Amino acid sequence: MKRFESSAVLVTGGASGIGKSVVERLAQEGANVVIGDMNLDAAQAVASAVSEQHGVEARALKVDVAEPEQCRELVETAVATLGKLDVLVNCAGVMEWFRAEDYPEERFERLMRINLFSVFYLSKYAVPHLLESRGNVVTMSSAASLGGVPYASAYCTSKGGINAMTRSLAVEYAEHGVRFNAICPGAVDTPLNSPDSLPVWGDMNKIARLSPKTGVASQPEEIAAAVAYLASSEACNVTGTTFSIDGGQMAG
Ligand code: NAD
Repeated sequence: MKRFESSAVLVTGGASGIGKSVVERLAQEGANVVIGDMNLDAAQAVASAVSEQHGVEARALKVDVAEPEQCRELVETAVATLGKLDVLVNCAGVMEWFRAEDYPEERFERLMRINLFSVFYLSKYAVPHLLESRGNVVTMSSAASLGGVPYASAYCTSKGGINAMTRSLAVEYAEHGVRFNAICPGAVDTPLNSPDSLPVWGDMNKIARLSPKTGVASQPEEIAAAVAYLASSEACNVTGTTFSIDGGQMAG
């Protein structure tokens, strides 16, 4: 028996990187999946591929998770499509580099809406369905929630907020059987973390200090394996955790 046979899963950011690997992993384990992403073409390609390869139902929807109403519609369409909701995986996210004194207010606020507020909106609208299925939520936080990354004040703030929100919701819903967990990856080999995105105008020594102690970045499939564990019934007593996968980056 596959762990997610006939499960209904909603993954945001499933068109690329970690979210794409999560969709592939959960579909391989039998899940029917709805992908919500800004990049509809890429999301549709992922949905078609997993549907063909694993014989599961998979659908892609265009969404800007920064908009609460679009988050509500995404959850409702996912439930209407799959008949229920067992797991919400929040992977949609952006990273940007600014010196604090140069950070435009509207950019700071938009990043917070995408990376942090969306996790609340999606959780809020998913909870009534998760209470019925005794389901769970897994959210991509970051090592940047645990140690300061220079020139990334909005990103670090958004990820720290995810950890606090995850713990709050975990306590709020624990006795109702709905679990909330977060994963804190260090460097993962995805487009978000490409070498061209680095702030070459900054002090690169400050950034180099943040490298994984193992000397290697994680692959997105490794993060997807942890999502699959946390979302499965094998993790039925795991809630409120912030699980690091960072090559020892935050260990000391
Ligand atoms: P990625 O850029 O490969 O994928 C991000 C996905 O989110 C894309 O498909 C993009 O279209 C989508 N997206 C962005 N803004 C959106 C919006 N407003 N509405 C809907 N979809 C939107 O990035 P990734 O590396 O896979 O990152 C996934 C998550 O993991 C992010 O939350 C990121 O902060 C986190 N993370 C990544 C790393 C890393 O090193 N790659 C490390 C720690 C945490």
